Amino acid sequence: MRLLAFTLALSVLLQSPVRWIVDAGHGGADGGAVAGTIIESGINLDIALKLEAILGLCGESCVLTRSTDEINYPEYADTLRKKKSFDSNSRVKLIAGTDNGVLVSIHQNKFSQSRVSGAQVFYAKSDGSRELAEKVQYALEQTLGADNTKQAAKIPDTVYIMRTAKCPAILIECGYISNPLEAQRLQTEAYQMKLAVAIALGLVQ
Ligand SMILES: [Zn+2]
Repeated sequence: MRLLAFTLALSVLLQSPVRWIVDAGHGGADGGAVAGTIIESGINLDIALKLEAILGLCGESCVLTRSTDEINYPEYADTLRKKKSFDSNSRVKLIAGTDNGVLVSIHQNKFSQSRVSGAQVFYAKSDGSRELAEKVQYALEQTLGADNTKQAAKIPDTVYIMRTAKCPAILIECGYISNPLEAQRLQTEAYQMKLAVAIALGLVQ
């Protein structure tokens, strides 16, 4: 809660004119990465909702790309591919239609080697993305501890909503669901809150 108080105090000084587009990755028919019984989309939503709440408390303007695990698909979207494509296009439209928007996409990572862990921020090629990613990466490093030593990196061109974003855009891989210890943490309210506060701190700075 100390961090939250600090964030609140800081935000009074630094209130920004931007509209944060908080994007919980995947959802609906697309669960994202899966490790055992853990599904990425649910953790993404939990963290995104916390981030939106904290930013809201700080007086920041926010919009969510989804606020539940369900997505209403049109009738023609009768395959997973069509569902995913409908969903990406809706998000892209929302992002493009948001004035002064800054995209913050929340994801969880997965890797074949279970020992790999840690949060990493990726940035789009649009102006301002790299600087923002570095701020959030630094805030995560400060909050999560010294063993979180990853560096902000450029996102591969395969991520559609990041590739098409004209506004500053970052994607945060909060941790690895393939690492048993980190996966356990990622599912707790306390750790999700810690991540959300760190991300909010990085953003408002
Ligand atoms: Zn993902």
